[in-house]
Amino acid sequence: MNYAQTLSTIYDEVLPLIRKGQVADYIPQLAKVDPGKFGIYLHFLEGESFAMGDAEEQFSIQSISKVLMLCMAVGKLGERVYQRVDVEPSGDPFNSLVQLEYEQGIPRNPFINAGALVITDMLIDAFDDPKQYFLEFARAISGSQGVAYNAGVAKSEKQCGFKNAAIVNLMKSFGNIKNDVEDVLELYYDFCSLEMSCQELAKAFCTIANHGKSIINKKKYLSESQFKRITAIMMTCGFYDEAGEFAFRVGLPGKSGVGGGIVAILPNKFSIAVWSPGLNEKGNSLVGMKVLELFTTKTNLSIF
Ligand code: GLN
Repeated sequence: MNYAQTLSTIYDEVLPLIRKGQVADYIPQLAKVDPGKFGIYLHFLEGESFAMGDAEEQFSIQSISKVLMLCMAVGKLGERVYQRVDVEPSGDPFNSLVQLEYEQGIPRNPFINAGALVITDMLIDAFDDPKQYFLEFARAISGSQGVAYNAGVAKSEKQCGFKNAAIVNLMKSFGNIKNDVEDVLELYYDFCSLEMSCQELAKAFCTIANHGKSIINKKKYLSESQFKRITAIMMTCGFYDEAGEFAFRVGLPGKSGVGGGIVAILPNKFSIAVWSPGLNEKGNSLVGMKVLELFTTKTNLSIF
């Protein structure tokens, strides 16, 4: 298979869709991103890699950080993490509050905002300096010291994050947030503000594709069972109320973020990251979804 050629064909095919989506403007700093940006990076566990477009330019990974947060929590606390957050698809938007009240403050899964906020609360208790640890974890598995937080994005989100504040407060009322609400929100926004390129993301997610063992430093971060479970949650919950659509069209476990990034993995084989800031109405990268659909269709590389 000529992957360079395949990516190039896909790139040309989706070019007319660039700028068709809506850049996330509920976070003022993200509204400033050029909607014309477009990068793809494919990294095989065995070492081969292929890049297209702005694959080395960093962007706000936003909710993609939720997967790294879960890895960090499960790696440290084990399976008891799942006592405070469920593993069911929500079928609702990423920042929805509706199910939380019916379900007594237990979020549907770790990849919606409510779930990631509970995980953040756990990380505050589990680590002396979770912000630094998270950064070092992302740097280690991406093999890049250039990975960093963007304080401006975190601040910008904090200033208008009324829904996230409502979510944490509601969960706190049910006893599922142990720390100060402001501390949880602040750390969560820091995690979301992490900036990585498609190249760095694809390398980092090779750790998950490789059953939790980094291809960079060879360290095993997840047990087999933890790997299986996190990958299953990516498959069922990685795209909010479009998780079924992504499974249907692409057939890979993955995770999106409102910065326009999507990363997907084929366990034992590869990780692929795409960045195009224009989002569809569900908050997932419009072009990113199409690129990955075309990729798995043309290469027959999916889990199905
Ligand atoms: N920081 C964003 C928020 O809390 C993350 C959402 C996302 O990427 N889907 O709304």
